[in-house]
Amino acid sequence: MTATSHPEGGRHSDLVIAGGGLAGASLALAMARALPHRAITVVESFPLARDALPDSYQPSYDARSTALAWGSRQIFQDLGLWSALARQATPIQHIHVSDRGRFGATRLAAGDHHQEALGYVVDNRWLGLCLMAALRQCPQVRWLAPATVETVGAEAGATRVQVRAGDGTLHDLRTQCMVLADGGRSGLREQLGFQVERRDYGQHALIANVSTAERHQFTAFERFTDAGPMALLPHGGPGPASACTSALVWTLSPDALDTVMAASPDDRCRQLQQRFGWRLGRFTRMGECSHYPLSLVTVPEPVRPGVVLIGNAAHALHPVAGQGFNLALRGITALVEQFQRADARGDALGSLSTLKAYQQAHQADWQRTVQFSDSLVHLFGAGIPGLGLARDAGLVGLDLVAPAKRWFARQAMGLGARRPDYHHNQTADAAAGTSGHSIEERS
Ligand SMILES: Cc1cc2nc3c(=O)[nH]c(=O)nc-3n(C[C@H](O)[C@H](O)[C@H](O)COP(=O)(O)OP(=O)(O)OC[C@H]3O[C@@H](n4cnc5c(N)ncnc54)[C@H](O)[C@@H]3O)c2cc1C
Repeated sequence: MTATSHPEGGRHSDLVIAGGGLAGASLALAMARALPHRAITVVESFPLARDALPDSYQPSYDARSTALAWGSRQIFQDLGLWSALARQATPIQHIHVSDRGRFGATRLAAGDHHQEALGYVVDNRWLGLCLMAALRQCPQVRWLAPATVETVGAEAGATRVQVRAGDGTLHDLRTQCMVLADGGRSGLREQLGFQVERRDYGQHALIANVSTAERHQFTAFERFTDAGPMALLPHGGPGPASACTSALVWTLSPDALDTVMAASPDDRCRQLQQRFGWRLGRFTRMGECSHYPLSLVTVPEPVRPGVVLIGNAAHALHPVAGQGFNLALRGITALVEQFQRADARGDALGSLSTLKAYQQAHQADWQRTVQFSDSLVHLFGAGIPGLGLARDAGLVGLDLVAPAKRWFARQAMGLGARRPDYHHNQTADAAAGTSGHSIEERS
């Protein structure tokens, strides 16, 4: 990877990715592995992080994290990144789903599926650093940062991209395919007039790490309360030392959020205790809290000639089911597989037939995952009389009926996606965890 904030005028890249967040960086790596002869440019508004490389990583108590499904571990393994990621990944060996104040509950165990974990919890910062360390080994990936994609337009046989460099100058790039990975508030999606469907959940997610008197024993708790769902994910790494920290996702009404945010640290722990119960003993500490308004955002037609949306630009889901980035990764593998086919046929990467084939290949997974997340919120979030009994019946039923439980587990584990062949060997996996490669600077 080369890094610069000054794109040369009119330069051509086979693929330009707007946004170097988790989705954009994962796509760049997947492309570099699958089609190493293709030139890729990633444009990212924020400067490139270059301080702590994975070897010197210090986990922070307040770090935000992502639950990676088992299927995402397989994808990162294919990309040669898993051995690096695993050093700081907390395995989820059990998932306990319950309904506050009712008897219904279901339990999933990795052992029942003959796997070492159902998924993993990884700090977003660690994930980003591992991706960057791997991308540093990929000379075909050029990283423009800080730089912002300002406009995207069609031109005969190509897509034209205007980039504002860090020094304020405007540059033209040309590409076969422009990927919008510019996040949930995608300005480029709006600028290009993609139709967006948005449904506000009327709730906020409060995110914080919490300490508990009892060890999490690598168990994730999904708990449904009359005020909305909450999740506690095991956190703190694979070793037993930090086994009393969990990552909290707590959905709250706007009023309840105000009350929690106005409370003292001890009072916050007490309110959480009241909502969650005592399965992990007493809550002893709650770290820095951040919160987000929640809505379901989908783009029914995420492709057009020369342009495709991925990651949060294509879909933003309720975080309680932990599916957003996992779905994005499966979308990325489906897209890369179609790019490989286009490459073999000699077609342009951004041809409408290639992008439509991607959309079609990913559609069923996309629909299933959106419905899975959304139905969890509706079934378990609504205070509708009588629904509690149905939920009890549903959870108990899920616990007893093996095929239903397997279905639920497969959704949670993110299994079933096809994966392309990547052209790399084991050294790539090892290299992802190493530091010390300098970044070429051009100014
Ligand atoms: C509270 C919460 C908890 C979550 N938990 C989970 C979980 O447990 N499991 C899971 O799978 N998913 C989870 N998700 C979803 C997951 O975080 C997202 O799917 C993931 O971060 C998507 O990243 P992205 O790269 O698409 O977007 P972003 O992370 O928003 O990245 C977009 C990037 O684009 C850059 N950018 C924007 N505009 C431009 C431009 N014009 N030019 C250049 N660069 C630009 C931005 O600087 C940014 O770096 C959660 C989400 C939330 C909100």
